[in-house]
Amino acid sequence: MSARCPVTGKARYRSESRADEVLGSIWATPHPGRRLERRAYQCPYCGSWHLTSKPPLEEAS
Ligand SMILES: [Zn+2]
Repeated sequence: MSARCPVTGKARYRSESRADEVLGSIWATPHPGRRLERRAYQCPYCGSWHLTSKPPLEEAS
């Protein structure tokens, strides 16, 4: 498995719990001026989990 999704270019995580773990560490550190990832979702293209800062409706389109 490559480090990034060939379709979205996002980092890939093999499970939701792994993605949530990374999400938690992102929120534990201040990132001034940066839009933080809000949630994990399963990619329909590669089947891995990615993090996104978009709300759910935006991601679906
Ligand atoms: Zn993907």
